[in-house]
Amino acid sequence: MTESFDVIVVGAGPGGYVAAIRCAQLGLNTVCIDGQANADGQASLGGTCLNVGCIPSKALLDSSEQFHKVNHQFAAHGIQAENVRMDVAKMQSRKEKIVKGLTGGIAQLFKANRITSIQGHARVMSGNTVQVLNDEGQLVQAFAARDIILAPGSVPIELSSIPYDYEHIVDSTGALEFDHVPGRLGIIGAGVIGLELGSVWNRLGSEVVILEALDEFLAVADHQVAREAKRQFVKQGLDIRLGAMVNQVDSTATGLKMTYTRKDQPQSLEVDKIIVAVGRKPATEGLLSADSGVSTDAMGFIEVDDQCRTSVPHIWAVGDAVRGPMLAHKSSEEGVAVAERIAGGVGHIDFNCVPWVIYTSPEIAWVGQTEKELKARGVAVKTGQFPFAATGRAKAMEEPHGFVKMVADRQTDQLLGVHMVGPHVSELMGECVLAMEYQASSEDLARTIHAHPTLSEAVHEAALSVDKRAVHKVN
Ligand code: FAD
Ligand code: NAD
Repeated sequence: MTESFDVIVVGAGPGGYVAAIRCAQLGLNTVCIDGQANADGQASLGGTCLNVGCIPSKALLDSSEQFHKVNHQFAAHGIQAENVRMDVAKMQSRKEKIVKGLTGGIAQLFKANRITSIQGHARVMSGNTVQVLNDEGQLVQAFAARDIILAPGSVPIELSSIPYDYEHIVDSTGALEFDHVPGRLGIIGAGVIGLELGSVWNRLGSEVVILEALDEFLAVADHQVAREAKRQFVKQGLDIRLGAMVNQVDSTATGLKMTYTRKDQPQSLEVDKIIVAVGRKPATEGLLSADSGVSTDAMGFIEVDDQCRTSVPHIWAVGDAVRGPMLAHKSSEEGVAVAERIAGGVGHIDFNCVPWVIYTSPEIAWVGQTEKELKARGVAVKTGQFPFAATGRAKAMEEPHGFVKMVADRQTDQLLGVHMVGPHVSELMGECVLAMEYQASSEDLARTIHAHPTLSEAVHEAALSVDKRAVHKVN
């Protein structure tokens, strides 16, 4: 028998669970189907982000950063620490506890909002119906609804020449679960995951080599930010080799031999473990029946318009499985906007105001466009920059690295992008995203009072610097 709801949500990641909660808040009778299970086979809501993404990675980044600080920064404060050891099992159980708490929290929110939560694999059929299949592929339930929101998320890309064995060659999920610190760690891809997880294991003592196919480091970021970040990472011991194409991996008596080509020269490297972090792909395999009518592109992304409508009326798609950056907050905002559209509201997202944060140390964050992108589009810009080394707070924290860079329209002074590398810039970003949402000028930020002594003074001074009137540096 097919049960009817107002809305069926497929996927309980940040796109799906947030959409389901917003639908329920708007009075829509909602069912959410999700296939993610924990080690005990029980439903674990929250998708990639809570189970194997944002949250566990940040837990390990924080533990490893504390360890690194004890070993490398405490001495400057006069604190002596000897024989400091990392208990990896304890670090991992702390991470698991955080994940369990947060995924359990979503289950409680579903209950409180009267959302029907179903564990299983959803398959979209014709006529706005969705079947739920068990692990054996057998049909267990079917639902129908006027509106369907697809939020199946993404999975790691596997290199055909270097398949995962899930023990020595792992994806990001495996890299979050090491039960000891690998001696020699090879990472393929110097993107967000390669840098974050490379930082975790490097801080804990692994010798980390990151092999990146592109010649440019962190090409998506502002080039000055990328240059400063790379300088700091190299100082921390990350060995980042650009223009390196990995061809194959072979087992040896002592480890894994990675063979790669760099500047047309064959090279090799021996490691104990390899993390493959070369991007993610939409998790749409098996989601859509042949007659569902929902179109996907050649890569498997669900095709949507700027309102997240698919090729089928009343079927919507959000998050990692559609165009745009693969970020949790982008998925959630799309989920909210779609829920509001379904309920007859407007639903709005400014895709130019989606912040990016890389949680390395120093952190990297940006919103809007880079100077290079704007110049390529023929936009006349002016920029302002301010180093954290010139702020009292960063010095007091013993973290005087990096800077804030602001890019504004040369004629109107409207803020077009803010790019940062430095301490806690993930938190400083909020003010800049708000400024961009409000279409503020750099002058608006320059005239805003920032508390002293805070890191946010670097944002203030960068804004002043756009007009060449920063106070604590020579303009
Ligand atoms: P997902 O979170 O992937 O959720 C999709 C859910 O749908 C999953 O539970 C999946 O099992 C389920 N599903 C898929 N197909 C079906 C089906 N047919 N039937 C039933 N259920 C199905 N982003 C950030 O913004 N900040 C970060 O710090 C950050 N860190 C990350 C760290 C790592 C290691 C990784 C891997 C990712 C990180 N991300 C981060 C990216 C972030 O996790 C994703 O952008 C986000 O989870 C996408 O949300 P989503 O709802 O679109 O999909
Ligand atoms: P990515 O796209 O960020 O980086 C992949 C890197 O691998 C690129 O630099 C690419 O040039 C390189 N590459 C691709 N093929 C290669 C090859 N054969 N050999 C060597 N290098 C190769 O992808 P990712 O790091 O896997 O992360 C996936 C996505 O997850 C990110 O794009 C991001 O959206 C999301 N994520 C976000 C955060 C965050 O917001 N802090 C953290 C982790 C993941």
